Amino acid sequence: MNDCIAPLQLIESPWLAKRGVKLHVLRLDQLDNGSGNKWFKLKYNIAEAKQRGYQSVLSFGGAFSNHIHALALAARDAGLDSVGIIRGDASTGLNDTLRDAERAGMQLKFVSRDEYRRRNDADYLQQLPLEFSNSYIIPEGGSNLLGVKGCMEIVGHIYYHLGNSYDVVTLPCGTAATMAGIVAGVDGKSNESECTKNNKDEDADKKTVLGFSVLKNAFSLDDLVEHFLASLDVTASANWTINHDCHGGGYAKVNADLINFIDEFESQHNIPLEPVYSGKAFYGLYEMIKQGFIKKTRIVAIHTGGLQGLRGMKDTMHKYRNNTSIDPI
Ligand SMILES: *Cc1c(COP(=O)(O)O)cnc(C)c1O
Repeated sequence: MNDCIAPLQLIESPWLAKRGVKLHVLRLDQLDNGSGNKWFKLKYNIAEAKQRGYQSVLSFGGAFSNHIHALALAARDAGLDSVGIIRGDASTGLNDTLRDAERAGMQLKFVSRDEYRRRNDADYLQQLPLEFSNSYIIPEGGSNLLGVKGCMEIVGHIYYHLGNSYDVVTLPCGTAATMAGIVAGVDGKSNESECTKNNKDEDADKKTVLGFSVLKNAFSLDDLVEHFLASLDVTASANWTINHDCHGGGYAKVNADLINFIDEFESQHNIPLEPVYSGKAFYGLYEMIKQGFIKKTRIVAIHTGGLQGLRGMKDTMHKYRNNTSIDPI
């Protein structure tokens, strides 16, 4: 097996078989440093920074941010310095996420919520302290066009394993930049990377990309996908849709059903999920199958990673655990 390709895992389940669903999981969580989709979003941003002669990259995130964690590792590996502008304060000490980032060489600067809100304002960015002014700035989440371009290559990993033999791709959506990349990559015209080959898909218009929003009422995500697709120099032919009903109450909000699902899924299939992104996407997918909206189809569910964030969710998850048995999945 080519070790720069994400493994693909078939879910063995009579419950799925009964509904005619063949489910594979693309394990981006098992790639290299575990940065999942964030590695793809950063790949071309890091390359751009180097190419333009920057010695440092700078970005924004919360204290548990997968993006900040991934950026610190990616910058280190590329021989660049990195700066993380973090929402919150350092008074309680560094958590696991930020300690990892700092160990990888990232310089952390804590800002108030009010200041953090200005992270995309041009005038704010211009007046960042001089010490940061030589950094290449990457938006929060790595969600810019270069990030989308990197995510197109995720589809190449699916092709590597399955060719064009699948119908639906599912994934969680935060900013939906990853989703835009997947939609753009499905026709196979531009998902080639150093790991994967182009694989043109004449039937891309019969495929569907299904995103699960992890935010409440974030209907602007649909516009953002449209915006990214329009800005890319590719014509995407796949159908796509975002499910807005499986956010579980809002970003990083959890409940007992979700936590029990995550526990059960890991114990049955040996696939760890976290409750902020991947847990909600898989939970949503299983709900749609349960309710009969999805049947007789071949699905590739993208495990987008983010497992480093589990460390910060342990106590919360434990509070919601109970011993009631739930349906086999
Ligand atoms: C950031 C993240 C997402 C969301 O990606 P977007 O491109 O912002 O939609 C999904 N899953 C995980 C694990 C993430 O860290």
